[in-house]
Order: sequence, then structure tokens, then C-alpha cells
Amino acid sequence: MDAVSSAYILEHFSEAIEKGFVQAYYQPIYRTVTEKVCCLETLARWIDPDYGMLSPAEFIPVLERNGMILELDMEMLRQTCVFYKELFSRGIPIQAFSVNLSRHDLGHEDLFERVLKTLDTYDVPHEAIKLEITESLMFDDIQVFKKIISQFSDAGFSIWIDDFGSGYSSLNVLQNYSFDVMKFDMLFLQNFSSKSRKMLTSLINMAKSLGIHTLAEGVETKEQRDFLLDAGCEALQGYYYSRPVSREKLTSIAETQTESAEDRDYWNEIGHVNFLSPTPLDEFSFREEGDRRAEMGDRAPLALLEFSQNKAFYRFVNDSFFHNMQILGYADISDLEMAFNDRKRDSYLALKKMATDAISTNQIQEVDYVNQGVYYKVRAKCVARKADRAMLAVQLQTFESEREVKTAMEMLNYGNALFATYELVVQIFPERDRSTRIFTAQNLPVYDQAGSMLKSVQKFCQAQVDPADWERYQRFMDFTDMQERIRNSPKRFIQGYFRMKWGNGSWYTARVAEIPAFAEKMYLLTIQSIQGDGMQWLDTIAAEHPEMLI
Ligand code: C2E
Ligand code: CA
Ligand code: CA
Repeated sequence: MDAVSSAYILEHFSEAIEKGFVQAYYQPIYRTVTEKVCCLETLARWIDPDYGMLSPAEFIPVLERNGMILELDMEMLRQTCVFYKELFSRGIPIQAFSVNLSRHDLGHEDLFERVLKTLDTYDVPHEAIKLEITESLMFDDIQVFKKIISQFSDAGFSIWIDDFGSGYSSLNVLQNYSFDVMKFDMLFLQNFSSKSRKMLTSLINMAKSLGIHTLAEGVETKEQRDFLLDAGCEALQGYYYSRPVSREKLTSIAETQTESAEDRDYWNEIGHVNFLSPTPLDEFSFREEGDRRAEMGDRAPLALLEFSQNKAFYRFVNDSFFHNMQILGYADISDLEMAFNDRKRDSYLALKKMATDAISTNQIQEVDYVNQGVYYKVRAKCVARKADRAMLAVQLQTFESEREVKTAMEMLNYGNALFATYELVVQIFPERDRSTRIFTAQNLPVYDQAGSMLKSVQKFCQAQVDPADWERYQRFMDFTDMQERIRNSPKRFIQGYFRMKWGNGSWYTARVAEIPAFAEKMYLLTIQSIQGDGMQWLDTIAAEHPEMLI
């Protein structure tokens, strides 16, 4: 059959609504860790007696152009409310539905009243309806948008940002509005390259540091699901789990797979743990203090350990945690659970005390232990608690040598083999106002002889740093408050991103850490190149948010 014409759509739309040809389909959204349904997205389908199933791509643009989209969206909202009530009365506690709003809807003065009235009519709580707004549409009139969005959020609605990352101004959107959920554009997964994986990783990292929940749509394969689980993306939607389906089909999915209300609150809290951070526990604590900082770096060994009825269960373990566990001689996860559950294990008391303290104090708790000759450190932070259970985020660090400090010292002695991954390594002795270069990959001249640290930094800066980054670099290397900045940083080093002249515009990461092993105070400055794909991301951030680069 021929493609349906615009004229046909315009002529038959009202009739199609009246006769129920336009139906809400629902696609379940799954909590990544538990694989339970936590929400349903409402998507419009037009099942035409002549043309069969019409996709939104065919009729939505026509309705938008002709000022009729609000009627569709209000009808979808109405059907959603009816379905919500129906599931509710059957004892299926679907927590929430997300419905799509068009940009054109936001221009309607009575949108807010109509939404409220519909929910009122069917007695649906505002928290049950999430409003999806597409990122790329948010730039027409910021003031109007801000007003409508705050009107809705003040009334208890959550706003989700749809197709995040598709537009050119994604970061501006974050600055201008506040959102509850960031829904990543499907293109990241459709082109599942190493580049898009890196971008998703950064976006998840950034969302978490801003306290925004994360959702990926368009998940089609197990590989994608595993990647998103490890990256800490909280919720998933896509053909891997289910296509959008009619309400009859959806009812049977919902009957068996719906998450309970208690689970929702519990996992929403846990969702804020940043799986990608090198210091997820500390960052979670900072989040609680209201400190939201963007950080980048390697993944820490992280697990989610649940205590329920006095027993411990691992609910999530990342690769790095698993690896460290094997170094310690544990065969598998259940073996490790025994360390918390089996009174006969010699580590039992120490670990149990740590867990109990973490749960009762809400502070990060640490235990140092030796097992099979390997020194290790376990850190735990309680991230959610409900009636008879609690979730701890746990880090497991292993050290082959007994003292962490010793490792840092040895690192210095390994020499060039290790430093080869750096462009530049410099020891700085602030008390003597001197520095010594240990390694350079770029045959850079020595700036150590300049008389004072301030002068060598200035000389290095002028000779090697891209002028666009001079100011930031000098601020970064400011010794007057360096120690304070290092100690205040949850990672115990400060880090910034800069362009160096020798790299022709490419990005480098500079870090300064304090090395505690020395009799005299010593900082270690390292400058390392950033591989391939991180760069474009940094270019965007540099243009739009240079303050995020230190
Ligand atoms: P969207 O809001 O981004 O919705 C997601 C689209 O991706 C849906 O297409 C869904 O069927 C599809 N999808 C879901 N999982 C997968 C997957 O794993 N792989 C692939 N390739 N696709 C997947 P659909 O239903 O055709 O809707 C297209 C767009 O039309 C929606 O994009 C939304 O922008 C718009 N739309 C749909 N219903 C409504 C509505 O009631 N109101 C408004 N204003 N827009 C709507
Ligand atoms: Ca959507
Ligand atoms: Ca989308």
C-alpha cells in the first residue's frame, strides 16, 4: 500500500481519535541491576482500517505542522491515566509512565491546566507521570521553557530529557534547566563504537555528578546491556527487553516483572552511586553534602553489597572488583559472601563490624586486612536503607606490598619503563621551592633552574602550554593553595585538562599528587596525553564550560 498522505492524516485524525484507532502502546523501561520494570513509556500508534499500522514518524510531523499535536498528546496522556488506574486496581503497582511532549505543546498556554485536569479526572498522582522533552527542541525560547518546566516541577512532575546528546547544545541544556532523568540518544548505541562508548561513559559520569538519573534507550543486544550495567547506567529500554506493545500484551509483562514501590525508592537512591568514579564512595558522600563535582578517571573496584535479614549478598560486582577478589584467593562471589556470612572465617568479625558501622553511622568505614600474603583494604558506605535491608557500596583495593606508601615510592624507582606512558614527570619540593624533572617523552628543555617554582611554571607555561590555556594552567599550578586543593580533593590529587604546544591542539591531563613517603614534602606532577576520542568531548567542554576542566 502507498504511503499515507498528509491530507489523509488531517482529514481522519479526529475520527481516528474518536473511534479509538489511535492507541497508546507501551514500552517497558527496566532497572538495569534488577531487570525489573520500573516505568513504561507511552508511544502513539495509529491503527488505521485502510492503511494498517501507521508509525509516529508518518503522522506526528503532520500533526505538529498543523497545530494538532496537543490533541494527540492529551489523548495519549488520557489513555495512560486509564491504563495506570486499571493496572493499579489489578494490584500491579506500575510506578510511573513517561509520556512525550512536543515542543509545540509547550507553546500552548493551557497545556499545564489540561495536564492537571486529565490527571485529576482519573485521580492519578502527579509523581506517576514523567514528561519527556527532547533535548534538541529546548533552544527556541529559554524563558518560556524555564517557566513551563518549573511550573510542572513545582506541581510534582518529573521532567525527563529525551534524546540527550543528539543536539549541539547538550551542555547548555543542563545549565539552563534542571532534570530528573537524562535519556541518552539512541544513536550512541546504534553506532556502538569505542568512541560512542567513551561518550556514553562520560555522559553517565557527568549525569551522576550532577545528581541526574540515567537511562539508555535503543538497547538491542546483551553486549550493550553489559556495557551499560558496568558503566552504572540505571535504566534501560529497548528491543533487547521488549518492543512497544499494546496494553493487553503489556499487562502480562507487567504482572510478572514489575518492581515494587519499596524497591523503587531503594534503587533510586542507589542509582546515584557513580560506578565510573575512581572514588565512588567519597563522591557519594559529597553528593549528600550537596557538592556536585564532575570527575573523570579510571574505574574503581566497586560492588553493591546488600544486607538483608542479617545476611550479605552481592547485587553488583564490576570487573575490577572481581579481579581484585581473585588476587585475594576468593574463588567466586559466593565465596566472598561467606566472608561476611560465615562466622568461622577469620575475617568475619572485622568485616561484619565494618558493615554494621557503615549502616549505623552513614560514614565511610574501612578495614585493612591481609589474606594469602596480599594486603587489602575494604571501604564501605551505606547508600540506601529500607525496613530490613541496607545497601553498601564497597570498594576493594589490593596491594601486593604491605604499605600503600611503599608502592608510591617504588613507583618512583621503576624509572622510564613506567614513565613511558607519560609525557612529563616532575618532582616538586615546595619547601625548598625547587623541582626536578624525572622524565620527558618530548625532549623538553629543563625549566627547573629558573630560581623559583613560580618562575619555572611561568617559563614552562609560555614555552609549552597553548596560550588559550595559560591562565588555567597557572591557576592549576598555584602553590599557595595547592596542598589545600589536593587534600580537599576526594582523589587526593588535583587534575586539569590542558592543550600543549607540542601536541598541536590535542589534550593532555595534568595531575599533581602529594607523595607521602618522603621526609620532605613532595608533589609529583605528571602530564599524560589523552587517547583519541576523549578529545572532541574536551573541545566541546572547553568551548562551553572551561571551568569544568580543572
Ligand atoms: P522517542 O520518544 O525517542 O521514542 C523511542 C522510539 O524508539 C520509539 O519509536 C520506539 O519504538 C523506538 N525504539 C524503542 N526501542 C528501540 C530499539 O531497541 N531499537 C530501535 N531501533 N528503536 C527502538 P516510535 O514509537 O516509532 O516513536 C518515534 C518518535 O515519535 C518518538 O521517539 C517520539 O519522539 C515520537 N512520539 C511517539 N509517540 C508520541 C506521542 O504520543 N507524542 C509525541 N509528541 N511524540 C511521540
Ligand atoms: Ca521519548
Ligand atoms: Ca528518545
